[in-house]
Amino acid sequence: MARTRRPLIAGNWKMNGLKADALTLAKGVADGAKATSNCDLLVCPPATLVMAVAEAVKGSNVLVGGQDCHPKANGAHTGDIAAEMLRDAGAAYVIVGHSERRTDHGETDAIVRAKAEAAWRAGLIPIVCIGETLAEREAGSTFSVLARQIKGSIPPAATAARLVVAYEPVWAIGTGKTPTTAEVAAAHVHIRKELGGAMSEASAVRLLYGGSVKGSNAAELLAAGDVDGALVGGASLKADEFLAIAKAV
Ligand code: PEP
Repeated sequence: MARTRRPLIAGNWKMNGLKADALTLAKGVADGAKATSNCDLLVCPPATLVMAVAEAVKGSNVLVGGQDCHPKANGAHTGDIAAEMLRDAGAAYVIVGHSERRTDHGETDAIVRAKAEAAWRAGLIPIVCIGETLAEREAGSTFSVLARQIKGSIPPAATAARLVVAYEPVWAIGTGKTPTTAEVAAAHVHIRKELGGAMSEASAVRLLYGGSVKGSNAAELLAAGDVDGALVGGASLKADEFLAIAKAV
């Protein structure tokens, strides 16, 4: 069956990379992307490198995103980055609500939602991350956690063109563990159903899977029902590995 939602493979470089290595990586992805027309490719470097990476991939089909933004457009918020600043630096997307931000910085669903709204204000597309912890999965509350996060993190004005949702089970991030394809598919079907209660275009929203995706497991995970791409952490730090994931779409 033909895909109706264009897949997106997004790399989250997290707090990794100094300029020289980051530019080599970005150029490697941009070069390889010439042979990748089956999906959108996005790299999300640390904030210090957004502008340089955006310059490095200019003219290619690689997009650039931030890893977080502040809800406000400017002001007395030392150390924070506004969505407008990311846009000004060349970003088109921004990740919000990553579990590492929710854990390390105590970000609540309400804060994540305000950040998604800030992304829209600046003309960026937010990738809103949701996902259960291991304890929540083992307690059988995965679906209720996802429903709660969707209700709290996704602004009511969401449309398919300006929203991407990433399902990232916290226990699968950086651990080498992944859910089965059946578990991924079940979560994505549930997420789409819950989105349907919150917005009219839920069937057209891109839903990414994230958590220990690499070249060798990408084909299987990306083939799971209702998966429209991947949010990739560790494996996005090597151009070949990241491109192998894109080729698996
Ligand atoms: C992530 O941090 O979003 C992620 C999915 O990491 P990894 O691919 O390393 O599990």
